[in-house]
Amino acid sequence: MIQLIRGFKDILPGEVELWQAVETVARELLEDFGFKEIRIPVMERTELFARSIGEDTDIVEKEMYTFPDRKGDLITLRPEATASIVRSYIQHRLHAKDPVQKFYTIGPMFRRERPQKGRYRQFYQINAEIFGVQSGLADVQLIYLLVTLFGRLKVADVKAHINSLGCVRCRPKFKAALSKFLESISDQLCANCKRRKDRNPLRVLDCKVPACRAAMADAPSIIDYLDPECKADFDEVQRLLQVLKVPFVVDKNLVRGLDYYARTTFEIQTESLGAQNAVAGGGRYDGLVSELGGPDIPATGFAIGFDRLTELTGLKADQFYRKPDIFVAALGEKSRLLAFEWVCALGDEGINAELDFGGKSLKSQMKRADRLAAAHVLIVGDDELKKGEAILRNMETKEQVSVPINGLVEIVKGKIIKK
Ligand code: AMP
Repeated sequence: MIQLIRGFKDILPGEVELWQAVETVARELLEDFGFKEIRIPVMERTELFARSIGEDTDIVEKEMYTFPDRKGDLITLRPEATASIVRSYIQHRLHAKDPVQKFYTIGPMFRRERPQKGRYRQFYQINAEIFGVQSGLADVQLIYLLVTLFGRLKVADVKAHINSLGCVRCRPKFKAALSKFLESISDQLCANCKRRKDRNPLRVLDCKVPACRAAMADAPSIIDYLDPECKADFDEVQRLLQVLKVPFVVDKNLVRGLDYYARTTFEIQTESLGAQNAVAGGGRYDGLVSELGGPDIPATGFAIGFDRLTELTGLKADQFYRKPDIFVAALGEKSRLLAFEWVCALGDEGINAELDFGGKSLKSQMKRADRLAAAHVLIVGDDELKKGEAILRNMETKEQVSVPINGLVEIVKGKIIKK
């Protein structure tokens, strides 16, 4: 038997209802906040991700699904959505009409990471991006939106962690101080960090290896290196979060793995997911639009891990699983055809109606109605046809009523739709 690929998964009925419910809540909230949906392809030219995510990142170095297409062009299954949204914003000159745009997208991402609980090779994200706003108000709105969404989805134990990464003006001084510090503790770092410290020292702050974390406890903090504008921006972000009553902690070791982030960066973390404690992450990426060939337009955004969200939500799939409103049990050729017509017409009326497609006995049809937990059963056989009436049974109360076959669909609809 052919099995699915390691790190990939099926989302089956019984579980998928939860995904749908989470998606509905997220979409409604995003649209209430003025975000417009954008759909982008799952594949792009490799170059787009290499340039936007950065050559020295784990994603580009070892996690991308990259292959030549039949003409030899290198293409990559998207490991994240921001690069594609920026490409689309530039390509379609969406900034020409109004540089301020808010987008969201929901879909699968692909990273060849080591699979474990909460970490998959195909996983899903909800992304939101705000273009054209330099003010920290946009970052605060994104964090507020995330915390509000998690509240609506009954996700417990979440906290916003925030930091500022400064900007191109203040970061070099911090990087220099960090590099000096990293040299002094070099012998305590893992092999990856030894390499990172020379190529991309910021990433060492992000390492999850316990020995590295311990060695980094006294690392310099970027917050001490912010220039006056970046400092004012970060103070304002914190003040506004307090005004909006969003609980947060300043986490000086919070850096994003991607090179184009600036100023506010944030992560929503939870205690309930073990090692994979981040449910959402994001921040400002002011340099990316121009880096990818567009005008100099600031931007900020977030990505929520959809898989992790469904593991954390207090909502349950069975709240949303649709059971048949009615099962039509028919005996005899004529009744079966009539039943089939009714089932189709009822479906058209928004009523979930099932029947037995074979020619099973009444007993086995009733058993199936029970197994499907149908709310009602409609019984029709030769006797009923002769009388011109079918029998409608409420499976919960066991009450039975006769329903005239003439105009049955309308009458049944009236009787079983919950008022
Ligand atoms: P990132 O794009 O790396 O900032 O990730 C944003 C969010 O996506 C994270 O907070 C996770 O919740 C989720 N995520 C990232 N990688 C994976 C993965 N391999 N499997 C499941 N969720 C992931």
